[in-house]
Amino acid sequence: MVERMLQFVRLGQQTPDKRHAALRREDFQEIYAEFDPSRAAAQASRCSQCGVPFCQVHCPLNNNIPDWLKLTAEGRLEEAYEVASATNTFPEICGRICPQDRLCEGNCVIEKGYDSVTIGAVERFITDTAFERGWVRPAPPRIENGMSVGIIGAGPGGLAAAEQLRRFGYDVHVYDRYDRVGGLMIYGIPGFKLEKHIVLRRWKLLEQAGIVFHLGADVGGALAFAALRARHDAVLIATGVYKPRDIGGPGAGLAGIVPALDYLTASNRQGLGERVTDFVSGELDAAGRNVVVIGGGDTAMDCVRTAVRQGAASVKCLYRRDRANMPGSMREVKNAEEEGVEFVWLSAPEAFLGDATVAGVRAVRMRLGLPDATGRQAVEPIEGGHFTLAAELVIKALGFDPEDLPAAFGEPALTVTRWGTLKVDHHSFMTSLPGVFAAGDIVRGASLVVWAIRDGRDAAAAMHAWMRQNAAIAVAAE
Ligand code: FAD
Ligand code: SF4
Ligand code: SF4
Repeated sequence: MVERMLQFVRLGQQTPDKRHAALRREDFQEIYAEFDPSRAAAQASRCSQCGVPFCQVHCPLNNNIPDWLKLTAEGRLEEAYEVASATNTFPEICGRICPQDRLCEGNCVIEKGYDSVTIGAVERFITDTAFERGWVRPAPPRIENGMSVGIIGAGPGGLAAAEQLRRFGYDVHVYDRYDRVGGLMIYGIPGFKLEKHIVLRRWKLLEQAGIVFHLGADVGGALAFAALRARHDAVLIATGVYKPRDIGGPGAGLAGIVPALDYLTASNRQGLGERVTDFVSGELDAAGRNVVVIGGGDTAMDCVRTAVRQGAASVKCLYRRDRANMPGSMREVKNAEEEGVEFVWLSAPEAFLGDATVAGVRAVRMRLGLPDATGRQAVEPIEGGHFTLAAELVIKALGFDPEDLPAAFGEPALTVTRWGTLKVDHHSFMTSLPGVFAAGDIVRGASLVVWAIRDGRDAAAAMHAWMRQNAAIAVAAE
């Protein structure tokens, strides 16, 4: 092992090749190429096989990273895939879109002065290879257990739970108001981070495992929540968070000021071959326009980079804090800058200018003040620091809150936190309603795909335990 591993001393970090920014701007394809097998093995061999692997500790799925790196370095890819997929329902997706700089790779302690192991790229390589070679197979149960589960939401949280529960032998039904499976992985995250066929091939596998999808099923709308509860032995709510935070101020109601998810969904649907009316009419198309995106998170990064690809005249990102204090991933900021996005740091919008349609944004410079109780520095406007940006399209990417689910589902007994997320018992994942569980963003608030997968898997285990116990009680009572 020692000869094959610990190669960081002679071998530098190499990430997969990135397409040139000029080419990237022209299409929505992923920007990173796949590792070739020899480079993947070489990069995996840089791992020093730490006794206490901090990479694993900081991976939300506690993936057994040192083991699959070693197997990759030894060319034992099928075993590497077995290990990688034992803890992760969608390793090829996490390998592409986890903010590794904040999670596994950001905590790789290879040795001071050496760059981290490229964990995400190796995880993606292992699983893409497994798909190519036919090692990824549907996982139907050996025995059907006769009980059924209803899952509301086909995002990563709902899907991870569905896959696990199907393995345990349940008749699993997933309900989603969208017409495709994947949640934000299909309609939120753009193709240049995650190509859609990657998500669609997982949908197919889940169907082949016997999971039944009910699409276009709006729970709380045409399909009553109470009816769904009556159909199944247990229900999981994994509906995510979709209510966009809004912005006020003079002119905030002008045409041409749009919510980020409307904009991204239209772009993703167009990319999937649909004809989206608001896109075709130009309302949600950045082509030829000066675009200002407001916000500093990952959604804002996706909007600016989408606008570049649509052929915007200029793209600016307005954020009230500085680069060091933004929530978005540094890797994505760098990618955006390479593609021609201009970041206007320490600036906040004050008013939107224009008659019926927006023509500009009046903004004010900000400075960072003293830290608040959470340690985060407050921001305050600089007197006289006003300036104006031309903008015929303004995209609001200020984050998301949960819908009022108790009202939407007609279930006032469904308890929520003061942020509107669902309250669950953190061991059983059960909500205030017996037999109703919840996982993913609707519990955590807007988070990450990897955390939704973790929650979905944990919720499935907790639901399985609860249903077995209930079934045993029912048998004993007979
Ligand atoms: P979702 O993915 O939101 O899925 C919820 C599903 O429930 C949806 O399909 C929805 O249609 C369905 N639903 C909702 N209400 C109902 C109802 N009443 N009836 C039926 N169905 C319903 N995370 C990363 O890790 N990396 C990234 O790069 C990244 N980029 C992002 C970019 C954008 C633009 C956004 C918005 C988010 C991004 N995230 C990213 C966050 C990540 O997508 C989410 O944290 C994750 O998808 C949450 O999973 P979920 O299953 O809880 O919910
Ligand atoms: Fe890193 Fe995400 Fe993979 Fe965990 S799941 S090893 S955090 S890329
Ligand atoms: Fe290998 Fe880095 Fe993880 Fe240590 S922290 S086991 S060097 S990947």
